[in-house]
Amino acid sequence: MAAGIPDALIVGGGLSGLALCQVLCAAGQSVTVLDRGRRVGGRCATFQKGGWIFDHGAQFFTARQPRLRQLIEDWRGPGKPVPWLIGPGGQVRYALPKGMWSLAAQLLRRAEEGGGKLALHTSCQVDFLHRSSAGFTAQTRGGGAFTGRRLFLTMPAPQLLGLAAELLPQELRRELEAVRYRPTWTALLGLSEQGRSLAGGWAVEDPVLHWVSADHDKVAGSLPALTLHAGEGWSAAHLEDPPASVQRELLAASRRILGELPVEWAMVHRWRYATALPAPTPGGYRWDAAAGVGIAGDGLAGPRVESALESGWGLGEAASG
Ligand SMILES: Cc1cc2nc3c(=O)[nH]c(=O)nc-3n(C[C@H](O)[C@H](O)[C@H](O)COP(=O)(O)OP(=O)(O)OC[C@H]3O[C@@H](n4cnc5c(N)ncnc54)[C@H](O)[C@@H]3O)c2cc1C
Repeated sequence: MAAGIPDALIVGGGLSGLALCQVLCAAGQSVTVLDRGRRVGGRCATFQKGGWIFDHGAQFFTARQPRLRQLIEDWRGPGKPVPWLIGPGGQVRYALPKGMWSLAAQLLRRAEEGGGKLALHTSCQVDFLHRSSAGFTAQTRGGGAFTGRRLFLTMPAPQLLGLAAELLPQELRRELEAVRYRPTWTALLGLSEQGRSLAGGWAVEDPVLHWVSADHDKVAGSLPALTLHAGEGWSAAHLEDPPASVQRELLAASRRILGELPVEWAMVHRWRYATALPAPTPGGYRWDAAAGVGIAGDGLAGPRVESALESGWGLGEAASG
């Protein structure tokens, strides 16, 4: 192999990609992470507009697995997860006082502290991947090229297949083709101080909306901020609608449920691949040591923050073992 080529090229810096990166760095490997977003975290996202802070992707996370419980216990720096809600069966739903994005930041911090060498590139959309003499090369929209000895793909299955189907064995292609995603239209509503009394997060019975969350109740220092998630059926039926009309509909639905709200600012965001409906595959990742290709993400592991993390950690252990 050519000298100076990183051990691992990870495309996708969501939670699964960063969990994977953490393990590979801890094993002393050199890792390059490419993500098309302005920052990492993927669907574990936090958006700030003025003094309003929204968790407009994942709202909270559960911690059934020991590795995630350990991460909470050993949290480095401010913003340690706090219990926020109690779900079915008494399951604790954790929130992050600095926003859900800080979970991604925590993984990055761990990766940087590991014994390996990390190169992170955001706003870096990979458009083409191919095998090369040194391993794998990713060509990016901005004209860059990044090479790694082994390739790891961590984005939703349709995006993954669009990028790398030819690099995958047929059986794995079929498995990924079977993964379905629920879309979600999300509204972010910045409220005046009058909205401060709204608290918590709750599922709603409504033809349009599915979930309402008072983000100022969990994100420290935010002005009153509401995140509304539309239901799967409504989001799918209106997936290609213009944002302005979606915003009107979601605001009307919010009035139906919560009455007139003191809205000062609003925006909608479309998650085309919000939550995965994966085929049941134990393990939640795929690692082909002979080919040097690994896949992680909620599409193989289940539609949750902690499933995505487990998937990345599991793949990292398999690939560095
Ligand atoms: C609206 C919504 C609500 C949710 N609510 C919850 C919740 O309350 N609790 C919970 O546990 N889970 C929730 N989830 C699910 C949870 O957020 C996901 O399961 C988890 O974050 C998935 O992580 P991932 O790493 O598998 O994928 P992603 O987060 O999608 O990461 C993939 C990354 O790949 C990048 N990427 C894609 N294509 C390219 C490319 N060509 N080049 C470079 N980079 C690329 C993306 O930018 C992204 O950062 C929710 C998700 C959504 C959208």
